[in-house]
Amino acid sequence: MRYHVVTIFPNMFESYFAESIISRAIENKIIEIHTYALREYTVDKHRRVDGKPYGGGPGMVMWVDPILRCVQKIQKKLARRKNVKVLIVMFNPGGDMFTNTLAKSTAMKYTDIIFICGRYEGIDARVKKILKAKEWSIGEYVLTGGELPAMVCIDAITRQIKGTLHASDSLEESRIASHEIYARPEVYEYNGKKYRVPKVLLSGNHKEIDAWRAKRN
Ligand code: SAH
Repeated sequence: MRYHVVTIFPNMFESYFAESIISRAIENKIIEIHTYALREYTVDKHRRVDGKPYGGGPGMVMWVDPILRCVQKIQKKLARRKNVKVLIVMFNPGGDMFTNTLAKSTAMKYTDIIFICGRYEGIDARVKKILKAKEWSIGEYVLTGGELPAMVCIDAITRQIKGTLHASDSLEESRIASHEIYARPEVYEYNGKKYRVPKVLLSGNHKEIDAWRAKRN
């Protein structure tokens, strides 16, 4: 899977993706993450990418042209490859809710995802129409931009790709998971009170453990 992220803040992505399971997936060539600095695609002499909304109202709207120039460049690059399946995603708090089911089906269907990160009031509506882009929301709250949503989606999609998680990591669909999990110590004392690990988990009886975990979900 190759991710292509169009953003005015490419630096935001570096530290998160340089650590842990995602960086391992990059090293193992399971995924690639390419960021594109949107300001490099504007013809405005001040490198602006946004302007006032038609019809008035607060905030600024991201212009069509820099985004399309950038996406066209990505598309041209991809056109040289064989067997690519490209998905274009924009973010909007009112878009389709991004879920684990969507993460999984996306991981299986596409070779390339182009994420367009909005800022300010959002992106000129013609971008969506021209590119036939999907609009995803990561939750019912409003963030200041599409960068965190892009990171969330990349993270959740990547862990659905075969080879990303080791046997020691866990993909909840393939085992009986529980919201209540415990590790050492067996008894933890806090403010004079003892907090114990449920006995069944110490029993070694996997049938009973699975039954207990299923009940706790
Ligand atoms: N005027 C907009 C808010 C724009 S927030 C509205 O109220 O609908 C600026 C950008 O942040 C959006 O364009 C979108 O790209 C991103 N964003 C904010 N909250 C988000 C959410 N919950 N899910 C996905 N993207 C979000």
